[in-house]
Amino acid sequence: MQIALSTGCLYEYPLEEFFSIASETGYDGIELLIDQFKSDIESHFVQDLCVKYNLPVISLHSPFVSCDGWGNFWDRIEHSLKLAIELSAQLINFHPHYGILFRHRLNKTLSKRIKDYKMALQSREITLTIENLPSSMGLMGLFSFISLPADNTFQIAKFARDNEISVTFDTTHIGKSDLDLLKAYGVFKDTIANIHFSDYDGKNQHLLPGTGILPLEEFLYQLKQDKYDGIITLESSPISMQSSDKIEVIKNAEKSLNYIRTYV
Ligand SMILES: [Zn+2]
Repeated sequence: MQIALSTGCLYEYPLEEFFSIASETGYDGIELLIDQFKSDIESHFVQDLCVKYNLPVISLHSPFVSCDGWGNFWDRIEHSLKLAIELSAQLINFHPHYGILFRHRLNKTLSKRIKDYKMALQSREITLTIENLPSSMGLMGLFSFISLPADNTFQIAKFARDNEISVTFDTTHIGKSDLDLLKAYGVFKDTIANIHFSDYDGKNQHLLPGTGILPLEEFLYQLKQDKYDGIITLESSPISMQSSDKIEVIKNAEKSLNYIRTYV
């Protein structure tokens, strides 16, 4: 198992400063989230940092909002595949699309494209994952046959199985969806290759582990019982990391890593 620090925790930090924090606090590597601050990132620049700090980019998170030069939903995933190959990342994560019109057609297109992505990756050992987002079934629950991965957490597990890809299982999004974390984990278990790890307090998402209401200790204990061998990525928000104070950032990064290591 590897424990990664997501650049999303401190997305406004320069990448070099982020690498130095991840290295100093003892993470196994980083998850590189592409956002507007990193849209023009060049792979040789990242590779140099990996060498300098002896830290790999374990996973690459495709941009989930539009980013300069990264094109539409499909372009963003394709661009991420290319970058992941260049950076020798082990895993790529993307969010389901949020089309309002032609939603079923979009979903079919995603399945078809996934076949192309797998071809593009060929024999490279890069795991493709789709992430569960906060979802509220509401009235859609009455019509579950028309619900899609973007609407329904459990449709993500089905979509991953149907398309033979894996899942990045986000704990705070399970909380936000009003689902029982351990029960949801039971449904997703065989699909999970990466865990976005953070707490939820009933209102705020992406809190530091142990500061919300999610049963994260039991969850980690369960992972240990199940001999989980994937990635755990700390994905707390810059606010919960107290990003304006670097001393607190380092303390929070260390504390979160120790929290995870205590139970797994
Ligand atoms: Zn996430």
